Amino acid sequence: MQTIQLNNGVTMPAVGFGVFQIGDKETEQAVLSALQAGYRLIDTAAVYGNEAGVGRAIAKSGIPREEIFVVTKLWIQKHDAYENTSKALDSSLARLGLDYVDLYLMHQPVGDIHAQWRSMEAAYKAGKAKAIGVSNFHPDRLQDLMALNEIKPALNQLETHPFYQREAELKFHAEHGIVQQAWSPLAEGKFDIFSNPVLTQTAAKHGKSVAQVMLRWLNQRGVAIIPKSARPERMAENLDLFGFELDADDMEKIATLNRNEIIFDLREPANVQWLIEFQGFSF
Ligand code: NDP
Repeated sequence: MQTIQLNNGVTMPAVGFGVFQIGDKETEQAVLSALQAGYRLIDTAAVYGNEAGVGRAIAKSGIPREEIFVVTKLWIQKHDAYENTSKALDSSLARLGLDYVDLYLMHQPVGDIHAQWRSMEAAYKAGKAKAIGVSNFHPDRLQDLMALNEIKPALNQLETHPFYQREAELKFHAEHGIVQQAWSPLAEGKFDIFSNPVLTQTAAKHGKSVAQVMLRWLNQRGVAIIPKSARPERMAENLDLFGFELDADDMEKIATLNRNEIIFDLREPANVQWLIEFQGFSF
């Protein structure tokens, strides 16, 4: 498995498995299948309502804890953010059945982000998270967070796919030693992305699938990926990315596909309000 080194020296798999929109019960089987397929990074979140399923799968897998890189995320804390962030992480750990996570992310740049971050810094120092990072932060928000706090985020997980390429973010992260990790690396199959002619032609040229082309393109740009699939054959396909390489011509053609087609835009005030009111998924 290809790995990426975070800015605190922790090593993380470059490809992981995401469990957004999988019910808690189904998550257990999906994560077991993913671990069997060879995934060693699992990405969940408190708000997904399936941390317990992830925990059961890890326990059942028989794979040593230290060989699995577990990522979960803090949901927005509306009041007493410092104390409640600490409680939220303890609750996540209890649901996962673990005494530490490998990476703890602030899920959204919303709420009292500085108090949330300082509490995450304390959790990191206490060993409850081996690394801490953020998700959905635009560079201006990241700059604010970094300027007023001690520990630099190790990673920023944000929507990145061929229709929303995030070049400016990639440059900013590289300048600051922050790993970019793509959520919805397959754009959740939206916007007819699987039938885009540039992607289908590139896939045919290499004898690979469109999904593999999208994932390899992200990987070759230095972006970490966490594709989700409920199907074992696709789990294997999404991990089988290193037997081919996109050439400069392929990369240039895919670069032309950027059209700011966004699944969830954090710059929309109505979306921020929706997040603040959101109570979490229940399956
Ligand atoms: P993805 O871009 O990973 O797409 C998942 C969809 O693509 C599913 O419908 C899946 O269907 C389908 N699919 C998967 N593999 C293939 C394939 N090889 N060929 C064709 N179709 C395929 O979307 P997600 O939104 O799930 O993003 C991935 C992960 O990112 C999430 O699971 C979550 O962990 C994280 N995330 C984080 C967010 C954040 O705010 N931080 C927001 C959203 C996601 P099927 O299951 O039937 O195979």
